[in-house]
Amino acid sequence: MKSNRYLLALLLTAAVTAFWFFGRPNSTNQLGNSANALTSEILALGPRPPGSVALNQVRSLLSKELVASGWVVELQEFERDTSVGKIKFANLRARFKGKDQDPWKRKIDGLLCAHVDSKLYKDKVFLGADDAASACAAIVVIAKHLANENPEQASKLELVFFDGEEAFAQSMTTLDGLYGSRHYANTWRTRDDKPKFGILLDMIGHEKLSIRIPSDSPKHLAELMFSVAKKQNVQSHFDTALGTIMDDHVPLNLIGIPTLDIIGDFTRSKWWHTPGDNSDIISPESLSISIGVTLGMLDDLLAEK
Ligand SMILES: [Zn+2]
Repeated sequence: MKSNRYLLALLLTAAVTAFWFFGRPNSTNQLGNSANALTSEILALGPRPPGSVALNQVRSLLSKELVASGWVVELQEFERDTSVGKIKFANLRARFKGKDQDPWKRKIDGLLCAHVDSKLYKDKVFLGADDAASACAAIVVIAKHLANENPEQASKLELVFFDGEEAFAQSMTTLDGLYGSRHYANTWRTRDDKPKFGILLDMIGHEKLSIRIPSDSPKHLAELMFSVAKKQNVQSHFDTALGTIMDDHVPLNLIGIPTLDIIGDFTRSKWWHTPGDNSDIISPESLSISIGVTLGMLDDLLAEK
């Protein structure tokens, strides 16, 4: 009997050890899977150019997910004359409710943002899966994770989903494109309680993940990203682009909020701004890597100092 009891104890220990190694939930992988699923939900609503019904539906979907985990949302609406007529734009902002005070009166430390619109094409179906539905999904997943695991950090952040990043003409100009981020940055311009940093995510879920940050990125944020990526052993996916990049970080940097654009390499791709930018190119593993590094950076940037 005694030896049977020993055998039982041995088996139990082995089972517990096996569970610890193989069965324990890998939380970053789970976050990647969740972001992948939410990307698909966004894409199911169809192309979402500025002013479209689908874009409103996507903002509602993101809002519903955020509100369910304790975030409050607000639309920042504005109108602009564009080459396709007068367009009504709306940035979606979110802050963690917390317990203390009106979240919109709270001083915040950082911004986490992405663009929610997809580029308007009249002659093809363009879904913008990685440009930038995947980034929006990743932000919602990060927000839910922080709400549960680290509400302190959540309450120091503002999430922004920019409208109108894409130009209506084929290429971006100083007047066409970045509509939402230019408008949003202007609201901070004269304030002295600006957030200390911004992180912009764009094209961060491609199956061949190759992040190439702009060459003029804020140095301390770039160094932090590389050191976190190295710590997480995913540094092979992160590098610096040869030049600067026009994206939503530019208006924020111009008004004094140092913002890092964590952006995938689109320069030599066949999928960028084509119908090939669909769910087929999105990978949960890539999303896990991008989410893991973003969370690692937030952990450092939002720590009590
Ligand atoms: Zn684009």
